Amino acid sequence: METPEYFDENALISVLTTQPIDRFLDYKAPEGGCHPGAFVEVPLGPRKVLGVVWGAGRGDFDAARIRQVNRVLDAAPMTSEMRTFLQRAGDYTVTPMHAMLRLATRAPGLSNPPSMQKIYRPGQGLPDRMTPARQKVLDALAEYGGLGFTLRELSDLAGVTSSVVKGLVKTGAVREEDTPRDGPYPTLDWSRPGKALTQDQQAAADRLTAIQSSGGYHTTLLKGVTGSGKTEVYLEAVAKCLSRGRQALVLIPEIALTAEFLDRVQARFGALPAEWHSGVTMTERRRCWKMVGTGGARLVVGARSALFLPFQNLGLIVVDEEHDTSYKQEDGVLYSARDMTVLRASLAGAQVVLASATPSLESWANAEAGKYDRIDLTARYGPAHMPQLSAIDMRQETLPSGRWISERLRAEVETRLGRGEQSLLFINRRGYAPTTLCRACGQMIGCENCDARMVEHRFQKRLMCHQCGETRQMPTTCPSCGAEDRLAPVGPGVERLAEEAAALFPDARIAVLSSDLFGSARALKEGIRNIAEGGADIIIGTQLVAKGHNFPLLTLVGVVDADLGLQGSDLRAAERTFQLIQQVAGRAGRAAHEGMAYLQTYQPEHPVIRAILSGDEEGFWQAEAREREVAGVPPYGRLAGIVLSSPDLQDVFDLGNDMALRDDPLRAIGAQVFGPAPAPISRIRGRHRVRLLVKCDKSRPLQKALIAWLSQFDMPHQLRLSVDIDPQSFY
Ligand code: ADP
Ligand code: ZN
Repeated sequence: METPEYFDENALISVLTTQPIDRFLDYKAPEGGCHPGAFVEVPLGPRKVLGVVWGAGRGDFDAARIRQVNRVLDAAPMTSEMRTFLQRAGDYTVTPMHAMLRLATRAPGLSNPPSMQKIYRPGQGLPDRMTPARQKVLDALAEYGGLGFTLRELSDLAGVTSSVVKGLVKTGAVREEDTPRDGPYPTLDWSRPGKALTQDQQAAADRLTAIQSSGGYHTTLLKGVTGSGKTEVYLEAVAKCLSRGRQALVLIPEIALTAEFLDRVQARFGALPAEWHSGVTMTERRRCWKMVGTGGARLVVGARSALFLPFQNLGLIVVDEEHDTSYKQEDGVLYSARDMTVLRASLAGAQVVLASATPSLESWANAEAGKYDRIDLTARYGPAHMPQLSAIDMRQETLPSGRWISERLRAEVETRLGRGEQSLLFINRRGYAPTTLCRACGQMIGCENCDARMVEHRFQKRLMCHQCGETRQMPTTCPSCGAEDRLAPVGPGVERLAEEAAALFPDARIAVLSSDLFGSARALKEGIRNIAEGGADIIIGTQLVAKGHNFPLLTLVGVVDADLGLQGSDLRAAERTFQLIQQVAGRAGRAAHEGMAYLQTYQPEHPVIRAILSGDEEGFWQAEAREREVAGVPPYGRLAGIVLSSPDLQDVFDLGNDMALRDDPLRAIGAQVFGPAPAPISRIRGRHRVRLLVKCDKSRPLQKALIAWLSQFDMPHQLRLSVDIDPQSFY
């Protein structure tokens, strides 16, 4: 049925609420009627809940019992494009619509009436009695003009007490006004000139802006080595998008990276964009959500969930570091923000730019197949060069036990110290040691709730489970056999490596960069800035350092265990290792000094290590693509992971076995079921976990078949089932 442009009072309408109900509900339109897409408050049982007017009512409900919408909320109606997006994203990820709506309304206080605040602007005339303090206030207003300030901002700016401002209000020289608290963001001046681009950069920028000018959906993979100026290039596309009066969204994988990006936006457009991520206050979140809906926010910088903001006129989405695993949401609604970006843009007629030095195989393959355009930037900007890479064959080294820094790497660090340059030692493991072993009984200390080892975090003097977050004081006696003082750390983590470095280089300033060592996003940001400004000689870091930070003094990267990611059965092990090591190596030599990267490895002949060393990237991707194609796995085939979990082990296996047997709906589309098998982590937070994997051809209707298949089974009490389409991790 076609949706009308307006529903008159009492018209039958269909409302989607955020409550866990499996269907849309019919209501009567509120007093005065409402638009389709309107955000409303509806009665549900004894409660009042948030909903969206989805369309005309279905009329499949007892007419006498249909209630009326309480009121329309103070928010721009959801566009029909957004409703289609939520529906399609929900269908794709096999997620109920109420959960999709919750994703799209993750701002507090949306049901509250608009909250107001007082702001202060220049008034009329001068006060009869002028004082130096009053003069300061008037000067501040004259200089910063008509934007208006809160009382606090104005008195701080003028360096006076708030009573001075209040006094001026009485004289009429300052005007006090009520304005909505969720005000628009400052205007971005897209016409300001950007940096002078190099020829390659200009050509790339021209292609992106031409696409923006012609409008319509289009995806470009912007592949450029670290430091090639991808950000400068896509900011040109942002400028073009803003100049056309459309909204732009830049997704960034890590909050710690936003500070640097915000500085660049401010330098380029003269003001800050709206921000949307977990480090933003609740009030600011609501402001961002509302302003995106009214067009009062033109550029948003955010984490993956910003994709579900209520844009009205989206012209561009940039996914920076598009290969980053944090774009996959791994709990709640399991979605890939990169894939959903492409869906949203195709519905909005918007441009997508996927930027990365090391694209995902998915995006690489889409570019190969001609679905995406591809632009390459192969040189670093300015005098910077790509680092030289070489392997250190650890089979030739004789290191005492408990040491991981080879003699060769040690000597290289020493040289950098002598020259006042920075070195980075990379190990992708948090904590002190990955396992703690009892030398009396041979047992390792495990988590009581999970099938996982407890990891020693020596800085915090605790053991921690990286699955459930449970921590425990470091014991002195073995929990298994009770032997005293026989517990020993096995293997290295960043903290232990830092200890080794401190012993080897006693005079060096050492900084450890690991996500768990900073209390807050702000502290982490500070730590990173301090390192960039030369506040450390040696940086010891986890994968946090691989993510786009710019350390100009860094000339040496040592990958302490290049083999680490190659173990394990993950289908993306090779891809991930390749990306991670390239990203980390790319940290070196970003300024005028030449950079070097060393990979410590026990398997220098491994194809991944060889591909990294030789720089034969396309060769690597081609080989990797062929293997996946032959195996029929993503991006050439489709996978769905099903995880069953319950405190009762028997329940999960019984259901899992039953599911594997009654697989007719899947077989009907040629899909195969593997499992049930204990998940790689077979217990988390006391719940037993069993996995099934469904594999099928890309062209077949997998989601429909999954729903038909799953609807055959009754779920025992306490059992949880989650469906992960295109799973990224196999824990
Ligand atoms: P990428 O995003 O590809 O890693 P960036 O855009 O961050 O690269 O650029 C790397 C560094 O070089 C940044 O400090 C950036 O400001 C600088 N840079 C890149 N291109 C130019 C340019 N055309 N003019 C001036 N500085 C540039
Ligand atoms: Zn645990």
